[in-house]
Amino acid sequence: MSKAYFIQFEDQNLNEGSNLATLAGMSGYFSDLTNVVLTNHSDDIKPKYENCGVNTEIYTSSDFTLTDLPTITNALSKIVDGNNHAVFVFEDSNLGNNLASRLAAKLNLPLVCHVTDLTISPNSVTVSRNIAESKAVRVSHLKQGGVITASLNGVISENATNSLEVNEFNFKSDSKVRYIKKKNAQNDLVYAKTIVSGGKGLQDAAGFKPLMQLAQKLDASVGATKAVTDQGWIDATKMIGVSNLIVKPDVYYAFGISGAVQHTAGMDKSKHIIAINTDKTAPIFKLADYGIVGDANQIIDRLINLL
Ligand SMILES: Cc1cc2nc3c(=O)[nH]c(=O)nc-3n(C[C@H](O)[C@H](O)[C@H](O)COP(=O)(O)OP(=O)(O)OC[C@H]3O[C@@H](n4cnc5c(N)ncnc54)[C@H](O)[C@@H]3O)c2cc1C
Repeated sequence: MSKAYFIQFEDQNLNEGSNLATLAGMSGYFSDLTNVVLTNHSDDIKPKYENCGVNTEIYTSSDFTLTDLPTITNALSKIVDGNNHAVFVFEDSNLGNNLASRLAAKLNLPLVCHVTDLTISPNSVTVSRNIAESKAVRVSHLKQGGVITASLNGVISENATNSLEVNEFNFKSDSKVRYIKKKNAQNDLVYAKTIVSGGKGLQDAAGFKPLMQLAQKLDASVGATKAVTDQGWIDATKMIGVSNLIVKPDVYYAFGISGAVQHTAGMDKSKHIIAINTDKTAPIFKLADYGIVGDANQIIDRLINLL
């Protein structure tokens, strides 16, 4: 029994997206893995999954919202109907654990959260999790399918290929509860009219402080490349590109960003792109409406002084 589904969510209205690292990790364990993504904006998220290395089924409905967990559980149970002997994997996050427990109850399957190791054999999937403050490990054998949450990360190979299907689905809420999006939500990159984005050319984490000051002056949001979020220079939720957010601001400033395709796929629909790079041959200049060949840190300081 090695059929598995990795279940992810992309709510562009709430700027919540999944991280491909756990999907890549799971593909290392399950030979027959399907990536199921529920979303409200399939066109925006499709590029992210075109080369994710795992066959992907996107389910799209303009009514989909991550705020309505009972309706998500109902929708999921219909999508996976008839596959109750599979393993359903969610990211080990608050949302993932919440939905995993709901789906397990709905499908009457065993649930194991916070899985730290997996072994797949023809007849069962063996999962381990730490217990007693990590002083012991509990091992469970899932012989008839199950629901698990795990964050065992991996890396998608550069030449990954996969199939990608987009299906409409019915996301009809029975809930009488109304959810209202908060103004000034913390991560507002998806809605930003102006984005100032930093890459490795900012040299280090300290380079992001002036960028944040510039963002305040321009009433902009701060974005970043994966190269810098991987270094921990700024929070990973700020990452723009195929692995996280797709943005379409009126103006996108790329400071010290080379213009790798995985990054540009997340920002190339911006109305105006302004690139600042010391290397005049950097690929980002091919995309830019305006370019400055120069030191990004110096230009940020000069802009702050000018504004
Ligand atoms: C499967 C996969 C998924 C990925 N997903 C993403 C993703 O979603 N988002 C993403 O961003 N990346 C992603 N990447 C990584 C991507 O391929 C690039 O490595 C990354 O975008 C490069 O970031 P960067 O431009 O900051 O760094 P670099 O490529 O190192 O570029 C730094 C640039 O700064 C310039 N520079 C240096 N000093 C200065 C200075 N003083 N002033 C101005 N410019 C200067 C250099 O000339 C260079 O062009 C992914 C990669 C893989 C394999």
